[in-house]
Amino acid sequence: IQWNKAQGWHAAKVCAYGPLSLDPAASVLHYGQEIFEGIKAYRHADGSIWTFRPEANGARLQRSAARLALPQLPVAEFTESLRQLVAIDHAWVPSAPESSLYFRPFMIATEAFLGVRAAQAAGYYVIASPAGAYFAKGVAPVSIWLSEDFARAAKGGTGAAKCGGNYAASLLPQQEAYAQGCSQVLFLDPVEGKYLEELGGMNVFLVYKDGRIVTPELSGSILEGITRSSILQLARDRGLKVEERKVSIDEWKTGVASGEITEVFACGTAAVVTPIGELKGKDFAVGDINAPAGEVTMSLRQELTDIQYGRLPDRHGWLVRLR
Ligand code: PMP
Repeated sequence: IQWNKAQGWHAAKVCAYGPLSLDPAASVLHYGQEIFEGIKAYRHADGSIWTFRPEANGARLQRSAARLALPQLPVAEFTESLRQLVAIDHAWVPSAPESSLYFRPFMIATEAFLGVRAAQAAGYYVIASPAGAYFAKGVAPVSIWLSEDFARAAKGGTGAAKCGGNYAASLLPQQEAYAQGCSQVLFLDPVEGKYLEELGGMNVFLVYKDGRIVTPELSGSILEGITRSSILQLARDRGLKVEERKVSIDEWKTGVASGEITEVFACGTAAVVTPIGELKGKDFAVGDINAPAGEVTMSLRQELTDIQYGRLPDRHGWLVRLR
């Protein structure tokens, strides 16, 4: 769907996958005026196809758009764009266990203009790709690398938006994590460098021996994950005490070492819920990568995927039928 200041949203079309044609002066190529989303479609046992909380992703796209000075796409258009894609060929939504169709909606500034100001033309696109089970050999705990030299967000910056620039800044620390044998990088807050923010592509939770579930508060520089909010709801439904607050890196290190913290996990649309076995940094390592995944982690994961795949009742009205 195209947008410009004079016409608003117009020229919606469904077309074959292929290269985009962009003017070399298009603002996105120079100033990174780009935002995106990640959301999946799930096939249920009866063949029907559903997506999960699209109004939450659509609203987040709007918040990202506001921060990046891009136009507001109505949430109904966002959900409709997913529906139209599935309508072309619903066989794209796989039926293998724990598989899905991953949608990548995105918006870019297309106005050809070299001055530094918000573009007055933009395009909204959706591509999709079938995704198999994230953990082919069963869910296994991962190692996380603490980035001590880099932050992914700045105070007053774009950390809470889902924009490409945030990820551009996280690629080097992510490479460092891989080089250290870790699968994701953990970022600390950009002001004091002391409090947990999030992983490169997931939010983080700590489970305490006394049953509390703790996750970093929405600091203004972390992404408001939809999986995060769903996990918080499921935990509250179980009567667990949940805390959204500042969590220092020392609290993680000492809590795991003393046994006060019994499980740590990360969550996001792609991997759902992933147990974290170990946290490593330049001069420390805590946790045991060989320990089995925690019970709370795995049962929250199971409950969420059971809702997504229609194996449990959708008591919060999270699912929206696409076909
Ligand atoms: N934080 C970051 C930086 C992410 O990229 C993601 C993935 N979108 C998340 C958290 C988790 O968000 P969600 O649960 O909405 O996928």
